[in-house]
Amino acid sequence: MVKLTGILIIFLIFHSCNNQIVKKEKILHKNKIIKKEKHASFQKIITLTTKILNTNIKVKDILLSPYLDTIYIVATGDIIPHGAVKQTGRLGIMGYFKKEPDFTNMFKGIKPLIENSDIAFANFETPYEPDTFENMYKSIPYKFNIPLKMIKTLKNTGFTIFSLANNHMYDQGVDGIASTIDILDKLHLKHIGANKTYKSAIKPIIIRKKGIKIGFVAFTTWINNDKNQFIPNQKEKNNKKAPYINRYYEKTAIKTITELRKKVDFLIVSTHWGHEYHKEPSFEQKKKAKVFIKAGADLILGHHPHVLQPLVYKDGAYIVYSMGNFISNQFFDVKNRHARHKRANREGIIYQFQLIRNNNGKVIIKEINYRPIYIYQEKLKHNPLKLKEAYKIVLKQPKNSSNEYKKIVEFIGSTKIEVEKLEELSSKIIKFILENI
Ligand SMILES: [Zn+2]
Repeated sequence: MVKLTGILIIFLIFHSCNNQIVKKEKILHKNKIIKKEKHASFQKIITLTTKILNTNIKVKDILLSPYLDTIYIVATGDIIPHGAVKQTGRLGIMGYFKKEPDFTNMFKGIKPLIENSDIAFANFETPYEPDTFENMYKSIPYKFNIPLKMIKTLKNTGFTIFSLANNHMYDQGVDGIASTIDILDKLHLKHIGANKTYKSAIKPIIIRKKGIKIGFVAFTTWINNDKNQFIPNQKEKNNKKAPYINRYYEKTAIKTITELRKKVDFLIVSTHWGHEYHKEPSFEQKKKAKVFIKAGADLILGHHPHVLQPLVYKDGAYIVYSMGNFISNQFFDVKNRHARHKRANREGIIYQFQLIRNNNGKVIIKEINYRPIYIYQEKLKHNPLKLKEAYKIVLKQPKNSSNEYKKIVEFIGSTKIEVEKLEELSSKIIKFILENI
């Protein structure tokens, strides 16, 4: 019996020892598998993160986690009140002119898009000078003038900020600059790039929206005088108290942008540049873009060529080389010119930039949307005063849109795909981390 009990104890001890060894082995094996799995997961996270870091677009800053601040900025091209455009506002029944113009119909089609934004920008390529009212509705070259009613309609359409740094701001002389500032201030419309004194004209402005500080600064390459010669604005610059238009000088531009950069979350440079009707940016535009970006620009909004030029992403910033016309009477066949597309002057674009503050507190462009616009001419049945055309802006892509337009659409499309891919990758990473904690 004692013997039997002894054997049983030995067996139990042996069995339990053996059991423990098997258990230990099993645990070790399990740990090995877990370690392997963890390693694989880790490797996967590394691969995905590397993919994100390798995206050549700024969207690498975008993470899926919720962001509190998001704002929408819309931007479009040149507002040029040519005679025919202004006369359209005065068209009454049977083609007779009314004394008081009405531009509501002209901008009605695009109003929802402009007003549903936090900031709406355009290039205001004209002064406002009420003293030359009798010539207000005529088309006099290099003597642009915008009717008060048109400014009020632009405000009512949703525009909030205009760039005044362009070659036509001097069309009504220094008095025209001063009265433009007065009327925009009176209507509570923000403006940049020209003002009553040198100091105020070169000063950028900062707009605060939903906790995001947006800095705006505007430059023009040249200013027309009466004969449309490109003159330096030195005379006005020397007289510090005279109205001034902010001409581009590299040194001043760098200084202004560098200082503004320290005060804002996002920096926009409005620039009047390039050659008219050229579909590709010039060497000079590219050179200036580099200067702006190096100094701290996040987004460059270009205008003056009156045709669309590409949208590109370079060195961490977006460059809109030209947004074409917003409203004008330009409709000539540019076949023999560089744009080589007769609709090019009528084709425009409204960009919509979605800005977000990401997890690092950085404000970036998350998404770019666009709407094609077209300056549409309506032939009138009754035209006793020989006015054949009425103007309005429609949200429409022309049937034979230009290659420039197609290129922009393609670029925005590819950016969106990249953002979508990135968000998908980010969500995978977050899922992995949560599963492996
Ligand atoms: Zn211009």
